[in-house]
Amino acid sequence: MNESAFTASPFVSPRRPLTADDAEIRAALADAALQPLLPALAHLTGDLSLLRPHLRPDPLLVNQPQAGFDAEQQAEIRALALETLTAFRDGGSRPAPPPSDDDLLAIMSFALGDPGDTNGRPLADYLPLLAEEMAHGGVDPRAPDWTRDAVAPGRDFTVLVVGAGMSGILAAHRCDQAGLDWIVVDENDDVGGTWYQNTYPGCRVDNPNFTYSYSFAQRHDWPYHYSPQPVLLDYFRACADAWGIRDRVRYRTSVTAMAWDASTGQWVVDTSGPDGPGRLRVHAVISAVGQLNRPHIPDIAGLDTFTGPCFHSARWRHEVDLTGRRVAVIGTGASAVQFVPEIAPVCADLTVFQRTPPWLAPTEDYHDPVEPGMQWLLEHVPGYAEWNRFCIFWRMGDGALEAVRVDPAYRGCPDAVSDLNAFTRDLLTEYLRAAFADRPDLLEVVVPRYPVGAKRVVRDNGVWPAALKRDDVHLVTTPIDRVVPAGVVDADGRLHACDVLILATGFQASRFLAPMRVHGIDGVELHEAWAGEPRAHLGISVPGFPNLFLLYGPNTNIVLNGSIIYFSECGTRHILALLRRVLESGAAGISVRREVHDRFNEAVDAENARMAWGVSDVNSWYKNDSGRVSQNWPFTLLEYWERTRGANPDDYELHPAAS
Ligand code: NAP
Repeated sequence: MNESAFTASPFVSPRRPLTADDAEIRAALADAALQPLLPALAHLTGDLSLLRPHLRPDPLLVNQPQAGFDAEQQAEIRALALETLTAFRDGGSRPAPPPSDDDLLAIMSFALGDPGDTNGRPLADYLPLLAEEMAHGGVDPRAPDWTRDAVAPGRDFTVLVVGAGMSGILAAHRCDQAGLDWIVVDENDDVGGTWYQNTYPGCRVDNPNFTYSYSFAQRHDWPYHYSPQPVLLDYFRACADAWGIRDRVRYRTSVTAMAWDASTGQWVVDTSGPDGPGRLRVHAVISAVGQLNRPHIPDIAGLDTFTGPCFHSARWRHEVDLTGRRVAVIGTGASAVQFVPEIAPVCADLTVFQRTPPWLAPTEDYHDPVEPGMQWLLEHVPGYAEWNRFCIFWRMGDGALEAVRVDPAYRGCPDAVSDLNAFTRDLLTEYLRAAFADRPDLLEVVVPRYPVGAKRVVRDNGVWPAALKRDDVHLVTTPIDRVVPAGVVDADGRLHACDVLILATGFQASRFLAPMRVHGIDGVELHEAWAGEPRAHLGISVPGFPNLFLLYGPNTNIVLNGSIIYFSECGTRHILALLRRVLESGAAGISVRREVHDRFNEAVDAENARMAWGVSDVNSWYKNDSGRVSQNWPFTLLEYWERTRGANPDDYELHPAAS
């Protein structure tokens, strides 16, 4: 780590020598997240004796507050940190040379409590991935290490990126770094994708921000552990500004259709924009349209007869004043759980229709600002922010998979899939029991009857139970029969009158790339080829569709292990490796071999069948209409990283340039 460290991120200022007095440092340490503290200081000073065995976290407790350290351990860690930081300051704030790989592994292992093998892999296998994720020293190891000028000087090559959300901004940035020409179109007025479209009250990220951010554009001054939507939107805008993308996006422009023209090695892309229809000719297309962007409007009889305002949570109508109105909400997924507590206090009366209750993950700091002392440490102690990200990445990551993997020998609770899954279920049930202890009528209907992990687990810091327990909030679990002009009628024939109807009914997640029409080799249309079963190799490539690459494509959604930004970073790196191959080879295009694609998808299906979401028959957006899990990645994060780091030439075929 050197003095110029951390300058690659547009959000992090270069380090300055530590000048704070002892009292200031002591005060900051009172707010510190302790798990990353000694590892960061060992890295900073090179003094591995700081890693004292009795101050190592218990790997089973790292998800507890302060990683499960008891009061005595906490005091000792803080005292040791104070001594180390004041000595570092008094010695001129000179970081030690970077640790050797062995030392780095020792520090990482200590930080995680020496977890041993995870999903059958030793920690050493994770070392390069974890080092990359930390992006120590502000480096960007996932950036392309080649340019078009170097590998194919003078070759004309333009990439179209469809969508300017989190993945599209990243894809355009990577193309730019490789010196490719690129065009980005987006149907919205600005960048941000999901963070632009979802503006409902209470919308916030449910992954810790310190990992829900690009590895190479970390921000040390997140105001909240889980920031609200406007903060996220600002972050993505700032990234797009810093990388020269935001001004160049063609806004209010959608792709309607595209076709591969083998005679020119180009995609001919039809668009619809502010000036009417348009046509682009590009050499490759990266779809970055997301999975959760097309609202799912439920097929409920009479929905269009409702006389008051009716809107979807992702198309919030802010001009509709809910004050003093009777409001009905359909759905109790992640979106509803965020906005219901916000609107309940202003509505005269709120009726929530629940079909399936969500599991709640107790998250005490869900709405909390990052403590001032913690902020100070993140900004002033070199490496602390990166080690903090590292610890969160691990806690949120592959370690969590074990709890949702099916144990075929398990014969316990029918709504669990293994002993560990049942243990997790008991913990979460206990949370619900405590939260609804004073409302046995609600407790009876809020405890899910499906395994933890079969549906998305939703974070809660107590506000969802509190909202449901309000006198003016009514939870209805009787199925909906129909909507009438005055409200919603349930299957018992009871009318729930309302003035405003809000659909928190999720998205058309398995309709990948809809409504675009995409014609590949020989005019085959992508959705017709899929026939309702979207599949892609690594979620990215489809046989017969050269130079078409999908980000957040089929089977790349993660259920509980990590942040989707990680997947986009891995996927984009793979796409750039494929583009490099096209350019180096002089070919027109590249597509995945069918047998490779099929083999991969068989493995995905087999593994999904061993996961809680695969065996459960509960409703979820993880499955398509046929019941296949078309969304989720069932393997480890490590495996996605390993498989996308490069591009195995044997897996792909090159399409020659037209003569
Ligand atoms: P969702 O999880 O798909 O939830 C939709 C809800 O609507 C479910 O409760 C569903 O019931 C209900 N529903 C759908 N059709 C219905 C019908 N015809 N009758 C009655 N109920 C019906 O959608 P979401 O809450 O918008 O969340 C989608 C995903 O977006 C999340 O899982 C998450 O990945 C992401 N998200 C993330 C955040 C965040 O990070 N902050 C926030 C919001 C969303 P069933 O459960 O019975 O199907």
